[in-house]
Amino acid sequence: MTVRKCDFLELTPAEAKGFMAQLGEPAYRSKQVLNWLWQNGAQTFAEMNNLPLSLRERLQVHATLGKLEMVTTEMSADGTEKILFSLPDGQTVETVILPYNIGDSVCISTQVGCRMGCLFCASGLPGFVRNLTSGEIMAQVLQVRRILRTRGRELKSMVLMGSGEPLDNWSSTVAFLEAVQDPLRLAMSLRHVTLSTSGLVPRIAALAELGWPVTLAVSLHAPTNLVRDRVMPINKKYPLEVLLPACDNYANKTGRRVTYEYILIENLNDDDQHASELATLLSGRLCHVNLIPYNAIAELPWKPSSQEKVRAFRDALSAKGINVTIRRRMGADIRAACGQLRNNHCRENEEMRGE
Ligand code: SAH
Ligand code: SF4
Repeated sequence: MTVRKCDFLELTPAEAKGFMAQLGEPAYRSKQVLNWLWQNGAQTFAEMNNLPLSLRERLQVHATLGKLEMVTTEMSADGTEKILFSLPDGQTVETVILPYNIGDSVCISTQVGCRMGCLFCASGLPGFVRNLTSGEIMAQVLQVRRILRTRGRELKSMVLMGSGEPLDNWSSTVAFLEAVQDPLRLAMSLRHVTLSTSGLVPRIAALAELGWPVTLAVSLHAPTNLVRDRVMPINKKYPLEVLLPACDNYANKTGRRVTYEYILIENLNDDDQHASELATLLSGRLCHVNLIPYNAIAELPWKPSSQEKVRAFRDALSAKGINVTIRRRMGADIRAACGQLRNNHCRENEEMRGE
């Protein structure tokens, strides 16, 4: 049996102290390691040159620093950069760097695959493989921060919008959010974090109870149960009449306006009538609607709505007093919709194996 080494990225400062104590080391040594890891972005114990060499060697035997291997990267014409990382067990996940004028953002994955099965999404196509550990979620952020630093840029925000359903991987997601806001670890305000969910109502309630200022983005994609049921199986379990009150409760508890994501798909949800139903559904709610042009997926039948339809949809919502924007289409040329790069990579590997 192989014993999994302790991943330092998963440890709270108290746990790091306990781990060092087991090695017979004083508490200040754990602070030194945390500092190397979180502030300096060290990737190996070897480079922690204020630790005795013997300790560095022992740490190497007993622990890892959550390092991910870069498998491929693709740069889009608009500056979006997509990275495929491989995990210690050989699985792969996607991470996307989104450059904005106000500062760079990273889009991170929380699971390998996804079990929610939304019919328009590439992430669920190969099925669910496993949850990421909090260390694996964080390692994506640290790797991207390191890449950006070498370019003289700073990571300003992050979105949990890569593959996977963050609220279906509750314990890793919460541990990750704790590490983000911890002054001894990433030390970043949760105001700069957006968590996107397909709508797991009990977990939205649990997140609201934590009271953290995370922006909640909800993948609505339909104004009625009739339409949502067609493409999002989760809607059968948590239909709109329970989802929307859970979001209202989130806004009340955290004081944060909820974002509703709405992908516009031809002949599914992009008519005048849908816009009017959506405006009625959301009227009076503390929220913002983000209209997303659909990224077509080769294996799936859905097509993006035309630009005219997207604009007409926005104008119809706006006219009814709904706060709405169209999300800038980014990375379409590098298949930046979640799950696309990984699927491609898996397919290419299968083809190679089949030769
Ligand atoms: N599982 C979470 C977060 C990951 S998906 C969720 O569903 O919210 C992030 C966002 O990308 C979701 O709003 C999802 O609906 C959207 N999305 C999925 N496939 C897409 C595609 N092909 N084109 C555009 N957006 C897509
Ligand atoms: Fe999973 Fe989100 Fe894709 Fe749905 S849209 S399958 S919840 S990753």
